[in-house]
Amino acid sequence: MSGRLYVVGTPIGNLEDFSVRARRTLEEADFIAAEDTRVTLRLLNHFGIKKEMLSYYEHNKRDKGNLIIERIMKGESCALVSDAGMPAISDPGEDLVRAARGAGIAVEAVPGPCALVTALAVSGMPSGRFCFEGFLSVNKISRRKHLEELKGEKRTMIFYEAPHKLAAALKDMLCAFGDRRIALARELTKIHESVISTTLSEAASYYSENIPKGEFVLIIEGKAEESREYTLDDALEIAKNIMNAGSAISAAAKEAAGVTGIKKGDIYKALLAQMK
Ligand code: SAM
Repeated sequence: MSGRLYVVGTPIGNLEDFSVRARRTLEEADFIAAEDTRVTLRLLNHFGIKKEMLSYYEHNKRDKGNLIIERIMKGESCALVSDAGMPAISDPGEDLVRAARGAGIAVEAVPGPCALVTALAVSGMPSGRFCFEGFLSVNKISRRKHLEELKGEKRTMIFYEAPHKLAAALKDMLCAFGDRRIALARELTKIHESVISTTLSEAASYYSENIPKGEFVLIIEGKAEESREYTLDDALEIAKNIMNAGSAISAAAKEAAGVTGIKKGDIYKALLAQMK
């Protein structure tokens, strides 16, 4: 006899988004595997649910995963949750689901909110074809390599980003992709929810001076079919935004040249002339 693994979505902010079925699943499961038991305890307390929990996170997933699979194989049912949103999406769970499937265990979805889908739906960006790129690396070289690989991507691109890394990520995105439309979806379903539609250069400039707060999903338009003809004025505008984001004049001229195809020397001279 074997039990079942339920993959349960939890709210990304507003607790009213916790579904009736998700609640019942947590009540009826034999135990809950939670990314952080303290976070999940708050959810359980809010809904008056009392249930055995065990922690299942990135650094104990091998040992705990084996234990969870053993218990399910003996007939228990397990509800897997993460701190917020869908487990296994930039959250622990992927390995456990794979192991359960490999062991012939039934895996059942109890879907709930997911930040990337929620953000895309309210962004106003093309949603017919998109790719999810998760978190960028904290390592500057890996982050830039990841972005370089995406510069020809035509689909809408979705990223998760932590507030303390947002300014650097936007600057690197501007350098890799050129100036494009971006939607910054912040604090979705929470009191300070906002979706700002702007350009990468404006966003990079703004967040070089203003400290971002809260959780962000970034939605960036894919590469246009027809490449745009840039003027020197466009190049100057981009260079100035790059300078506002903290780069020196010559680096900004170089980056703006890369984006627009206009000669670096021309941009540099025009920038100097405007500064006189
Ligand atoms: N598994 C989750 C999901 O499916 O939504 C995502 C977990 S991932 C560790 C956390 C990231 O999701 C945050 O850094 C942020 O980029 C995004 N996120 C989660 N909640 C959010 C919210 N309420 N508003 C905006 N972004 C959010």
